[in-house]
Amino acid sequence: MPELPEVETVRAGLERFVVGRRIAAATVGHERAVRRHRPGAADFGDRVRDCRIEGAARRGKYLWLALDSGEAVLAHLGMSGQLLVQPAGVPDEKHLRVRFAFDDDGPELRSVDQRTFGGMSVEELVDSAGTPVPVPVAHIARDPLDPAFDAVGFARALRRRRTQLKRALLDQSLVSGIGNIYADEALWLARLHYARPTHSLPAADVRRLLADVTTVMTAALAAGGTSFDSLYVNVNGASGYFDRSLEAYGRVGRPCSRCGTPLARDPFMNRSSFFCPDCQRAPRRAGSVRRVN
Ligand SMILES: [Zn+2]
Repeated sequence: MPELPEVETVRAGLERFVVGRRIAAATVGHERAVRRHRPGAADFGDRVRDCRIEGAARRGKYLWLALDSGEAVLAHLGMSGQLLVQPAGVPDEKHLRVRFAFDDDGPELRSVDQRTFGGMSVEELVDSAGTPVPVPVAHIARDPLDPAFDAVGFARALRRRRTQLKRALLDQSLVSGIGNIYADEALWLARLHYARPTHSLPAADVRRLLADVTTVMTAALAAGGTSFDSLYVNVNGASGYFDRSLEAYGRVGRPCSRCGTPLARDPFMNRSSFFCPDCQRAPRRAGSVRRVN
């Protein structure tokens, strides 16, 4: 599943390849891909035809193309979505869902999605703290890579929650865009256990963790994003390669690069948490957590 750095990589690709161009036609190849566009596939095409793309924006894992009509095409990649920029003559991909052709006859924008958990819709923009955002995105918190991210407000909100640290990191209403991989990596860097109760966390630890989240995401961004799903490729079709430098995620039984202790894995919210049992000491009352390996 694409995480935030991958989605940001796609956004940057959209900015480079489609912003400033005028849509000649959008063809929906599969109704499911626009199921969140309530008026249907024909209306989707009508709403974007002849519109110029003014910008490519992102909040959390949502991407949108702002149109000169005042609306925006909102996209979510879901589990397996790709946005490809392809020369017009290239044969259709097997799972092509939506095709945008442009009036300059240049490369098309193609939404390809095998499982179609993601999708597109045309949305009105509303004001969210001074920024125009599509309506479905208005409740989503900013992410740590967003220049307007409120670190002080985040730290305050985090310490007010009575929850475990990793649950808070994954809570999209507190902070968006941190998925399982980057949460484990940031917690390892910050030497904090995933089950630490947030209310007992010193403010300095929250600041350090936030800095580490930013470090991990920035590094992933520089590398073009992590890819654990071979279906995921970025806007130009190139897979990410950050997975080569992961320190914790997926490394159960392998030595911690700081202390040599074999890394551990615990079940966590139907998934796993990877951590170093020595660098990231469990809080005392989490002794009941069952160890898988
Ligand atoms: Zn360690």
